[in-house]
Amino acid sequence: MKNRYVVIGGIAAGMSAASRIKKIDKSAEVVVFEKGEFISYGACSMPYYIANPQGDYKDLIVLSVEDAINKRGIDVRTNHLVLGISVNEKRVFYKELTSGKGKSIDYDRLVIATGASPIKPPIAGVDNDNVFSLRTLNDGIAIKKFIEEKKPKKAVIVGAGYIGLEMAESLTSLGIQVVIIEMLEKPMPLYNESIVETILKTLEENGVKTYFSSKVERIEGNKVYSTAGEFDADMVLLATGVKPNVSLAKDAGIELGARGAIAVDSKMETSVSGIYAAGDCAESINRITNRKIYVPLGTVANKHGRIAGLNAARELARFPGAIMSAEFKLFDKEVARCGLTLKEAIDDGFDPVEIVITASSAAHGVKERYPIQVAMIGDRKSGKLLGCQMIGKKGVAHRINIVATAIFNGNTAKEFSMFDLAYAPPFSPVWDPVLIAANVLKGKLK
Ligand code: FAD
Ligand code: NAD
Repeated sequence: MKNRYVVIGGIAAGMSAASRIKKIDKSAEVVVFEKGEFISYGACSMPYYIANPQGDYKDLIVLSVEDAINKRGIDVRTNHLVLGISVNEKRVFYKELTSGKGKSIDYDRLVIATGASPIKPPIAGVDNDNVFSLRTLNDGIAIKKFIEEKKPKKAVIVGAGYIGLEMAESLTSLGIQVVIIEMLEKPMPLYNESIVETILKTLEENGVKTYFSSKVERIEGNKVYSTAGEFDADMVLLATGVKPNVSLAKDAGIELGARGAIAVDSKMETSVSGIYAAGDCAESINRITNRKIYVPLGTVANKHGRIAGLNAARELARFPGAIMSAEFKLFDKEVARCGLTLKEAIDDGFDPVEIVITASSAAHGVKERYPIQVAMIGDRKSGKLLGCQMIGKKGVAHRINIVATAIFNGNTAKEFSMFDLAYAPPFSPVWDPVLIAANVLKGKLK
């Protein structure tokens, strides 16, 4: 008999799971419910789409609904909102948003991939027409439309995290004057002090004004009132973090775990057998500490989806854990990290040492060479590499993945310091910056 798999959510995790299931269980019926009008888009590209006057939202769509249905054989139902799950009846209740009709469907296996939602701080005025969050493709389209039609000159961004910083560059490139208001004392707390200093300098050099340890009190028309003062703002972007969408799971009696995300095992199976969760709605395991954590990143969501799909289709696969690898572009800089921060390493009971070095992106005599700051963390007890962060104009974004590979594999600083990395003058000095950092760290770990 044909199996029926239901997937809730049609973006990174949901479509990865659905595609994987269909590849393995070819005769299966795979139904994807997505409450929005789009599936499978690259949310990560939205800051660049907004910045590009020729940007077309269709270019962000990786798989169209038509191709998912006709080429992959997946029964994608957009504009369908799932309202509830009965785990005893193995039934999902949903509403067709276009007709308003309520219906239900049985499943053999279920994958919950409901993602996350932007946190809206409880500030008067957050629902005003000129106040935005950036999460869905519709959010991106709305921001771009507002910019094109209203031609804002000044913007306030609330939050100096990933979206805040990427959008500071995006809006500045459109000639919009940007002010960032952040409640913490610095941006990007997961980065070493010296890297944060370069981030701040980069923002300043590009005309972005920043206010830390500050709170927005209210938004009224084109004014933002905050503890740092009053600011003119033709538009406001809330970039204050995300929370996992777990109400369906919670109401169905499925257990929650790290940071309120859906608890899962390494097969991405929830506390209810036959129900899987993946992506920004689900917790992850930290490969270094073995602790449950929450990592709302696209790179993790895709892997979660694949593992959930494989297991749902009865092919055993395990999520190997995350090491929080992430990177972003900030004007002329590449910024990247992986592994633990010094504070996390201390809190997790390691005996960590952190070193910071600056080395060149290319060899002497090469015209285009830039400094790269590398912060690297190792454990005195085991000698293992624990974390790394980097910033520089060139050669950072991909270089972090060398260190990520070593941390993922549990290498020591000593082992890593002799990794046989390729060398040619335009790409690195003969001792690559990450190897220089590992050698310095190795010395300190003795
Ligand atoms: P989502 O993308 O949130 O998708 C979940 C879907 O489920 C949604 O479409 C939602 O409508 C649907 N849904 C929810 N509830 C229901 C329901 N009841 N019924 C039906 N459908 C439902 N990550 C990186 O790794 N690198 C980056 O560079 C990066 N850049 C980013 C830039 C921006 C601007 C943003 C917003 C995010 C970025 N991310 C990045 C994060 C990445 O986009 C997310 O981690 C990823 O989209 C998570 O995928 P998901 O499928 O788990 O969740
Ligand atoms: P974030 O967690 O990166 O940053 C949120 C920031 O807002 C924090 O610095 C926080 O202190 C601040 N904040 C929270 N409430 C505030 C308030 N009331 N007033 C002032 N500041 C406040 O979250 P984000 O930037 O919204 O991005 C969401 C998620 O999307 C990220 O966690 C990340 O996983 C993902 N993302 C990743 C990338 C990338 O990897 N390149 C890019 C964009 C988004």
